[in-house]
Amino acid sequence: MKIIYSDAHQGHAGALEMRGEAFVPMAECPERMAVIVQALAQAGLTDMQAPTLHGLEAAARVHDPDFLRFLETAYPMWLAQKGPGSAAFARVFGMRGLAQRPNMNSVDAMLSAFTFDIFSPIVAGTWDAIRSALDITLTGARVMQSGAPSVFSLCRPPGHHASGDLAGGYCYLNNAAIAAQYYRDQGAERVAILDIDYHHGNGTQRIFYDRDDVQFISLHGRPEEEYPFLLGFADETGHGKGEGFNLNLPMPPGTRIGTYMDAVAAASARIRAFSPDMLIVSLGVDTYEHDPVGGFCLQSPDYLTLGQSIADLRLPSHFVMEGGYAIEALGHNVANVLTGYLNG
Ligand SMILES: [Zn+2]
Repeated sequence: MKIIYSDAHQGHAGALEMRGEAFVPMAECPERMAVIVQALAQAGLTDMQAPTLHGLEAAARVHDPDFLRFLETAYPMWLAQKGPGSAAFARVFGMRGLAQRPNMNSVDAMLSAFTFDIFSPIVAGTWDAIRSALDITLTGARVMQSGAPSVFSLCRPPGHHASGDLAGGYCYLNNAAIAAQYYRDQGAERVAILDIDYHHGNGTQRIFYDRDDVQFISLHGRPEEEYPFLLGFADETGHGKGEGFNLNLPMPPGTRIGTYMDAVAAASARIRAFSPDMLIVSLGVDTYEHDPVGGFCLQSPDYLTLGQSIADLRLPSHFVMEGGYAIEALGHNVANVLTGYLNG
C-alpha cells in the first residue's frame, strides 16, 4: 500500500485548546504524524511517496470560495490587525440570528462566520498544512486512479468536521469529502465514505446530506454527550434524494469491540447494498481506550479486526487520516488498521 506523506504540516503547531478551565497544547499536534510514520515503518509499511502539487480547484468543488479565501488570508490579516503573539481565534460565532455574509476585510468577522468552535485556531503554518493535506489527499486519489487497490493519505490537519463553509474540531478543509467529489468528477458513479473516527463526521454529513451519489456512514460516540453534540443522531438519514444515503451509528461511552463490530457489520451491509465504485475510509483511531479526547474502549489488537472487516468489503479503498491523539499508541493503532486490511 502506498502511503502519501509530507512534513509540510509541521508549521501548524503551537496553538492552545481549552481543556477544563485551562488552555493546554492542542492534542492535534505534529508529533502525531511522526509516531505514525515510525510505526508504519516498524510494521513494514514503507512504500512512502511525497505528494504532487495541486491547485484549489478540487477543494472549490466542496468548499465555498469565500471560505477558501478566509483560510488563506486569515493569519496574515490577523497579524496585520492584531499583531503577533497568539493564534487567530473567533470571539463570536455566527449563531442563528447573527448570520450575515462577513466583511472579508475584517479577520474577526471572517473567524466568526467561518469557524464553529474554538478548536480550529489559525497560526502562521496553518495554510501550508491545509494545502499539504489537500495535495496528499489528491495524490492518493491519483494513485487509486492508476489502478492501485488501496492507498493511505497520511494527512494533517484532519478534515471530517469541516463543512462547505465552516472549520472546527481541528479541521479546515474536508479532505475525505474533497476526495469523494473528485472521484465523482472523474467518473465514479457512487462513492461511499466510512467514518470510523470517534467523533461524528458532521462536516462530511452536511456536505453530502441531500445527495444519493455519495453515501456517508459514521460510527461514533453518541452526540447526547459527545462532540460535536448537535449532529450525529441516528435519525439523521439524509434529505430529499439523499434520504437513505446517510447512516449514523452512535454508540455509548465505554463501547468495546463487540458492540463496535456489530456497528461495523451494519455499516458493511449498507455499503454492500450501495455497491460503490470507491470506498473512502475516514481513519480516526481516537476510539482507543486511552485516547485523551475519546470515550470508547477499543484496544490495539482490535484495530487489526477492524482493518480486516474493511478488507472484507472487497472495494478499492482510500484511507484518509482523521483523528487519534494517544501519542503512545497512535502509530501502532493506525498501522494495525492497515495491516489488518492488507492481511484481510
Ligand atoms: Zn475524532
